[in-house]
Amino acid sequence: MRINCDQCGKKINSISNFCPFCGTEAPRRTVLFTENKQEIKNPIFCVHCRVKNIPEAIYCSDCGEHLYKKPIDNQIFCGQCGQKNKSKAKVCIECGLSFLDWFSMKGEIAEKLGFRGNLSIREKMTGFIYHFISNSEFSIGRNSTNDLVIPCSWVSGNHCHFDFKKKRLIDSSTNGSFINRKPDHIKSEPLEFITEFNIAGSFTFPLIKKENLYVFHLGAIMDEKECRRNGDGASFDKLRKTYFIIQNGDFELKIQKLDGYIGETLKPHSKYYTFKLINGFYYYSDKDRNIENMLLIKNTNTLPANWIKVD
Ligand SMILES: [Zn+2]
Ligand SMILES: [Zn+2]
Ligand SMILES: [Zn+2]
Repeated sequence: MRINCDQCGKKINSISNFCPFCGTEAPRRTVLFTENKQEIKNPIFCVHCRVKNIPEAIYCSDCGEHLYKKPIDNQIFCGQCGQKNKSKAKVCIECGLSFLDWFSMKGEIAEKLGFRGNLSIREKMTGFIYHFISNSEFSIGRNSTNDLVIPCSWVSGNHCHFDFKKKRLIDSSTNGSFINRKPDHIKSEPLEFITEFNIAGSFTFPLIKKENLYVFHLGAIMDEKECRRNGDGASFDKLRKTYFIIQNGDFELKIQKLDGYIGETLKPHSKYYTFKLINGFYYYSDKDRNIENMLLIKNTNTLPANWIKVD
């Protein structure tokens, strides 16, 4: 018999104590018949208690522990073959599984569980939204078909776009795009010279360049009162709290806590979240919560507690 998890809604076995997908204690139902324990194909052994789990499981259905987190006691069970190993073991004495890979969820494990592709998430405390994007082009304009929409009548329908392959910002607007506070309309400018770009003389975006990354968000609005009369102010406020992070390969990015800031350099002694992309997979660290290089998993319910996935 199968029941649904109260927390994540996924189907789970009625004899599970914990949901294998989100780790929540499973709903207690009176089971009116004895269940034949189903044989699990390619099981994952719980590294804490050795119980077999379904291959998609992230939490043990029996003891509720995270299957990829290292236990603190003096023994571990191999997740692949169930063999008992010393807690300091680097590889399984029976099957040779690398525990380093297992507990940092790298290699094949990442392949199976990891999230890939564009990622949009919001930090609950600050409300800041971060769009991690790997497209080679990125468009800005008033039309809703653009990647970044600025609903203001001074902005052209399709105002300008980034070509990240050619590494240029290309204008196609009536009121112009500007860079680095210079007065001339640009046509096509190489990104390496741009530290700031401006849309229609009104919306200014600082452009931050990091290894394999371009990062920008709405910094300032000139003639803001006038702009709000000609557009949708709520959208402007949202853009101020939205970072666009265009990626081109593996990266490491630090996001400052409390103010959600991403900059060229971080303020001294600041606390931060770290996002890494390794072979297309996202890893997350938060030192204060003892989270280090945690693989972001396809199942959205396993995002770190203070983050939420957005569209
Ligand atoms: Zn669940
Ligand atoms: Zn267990
Ligand atoms: Zn093993």
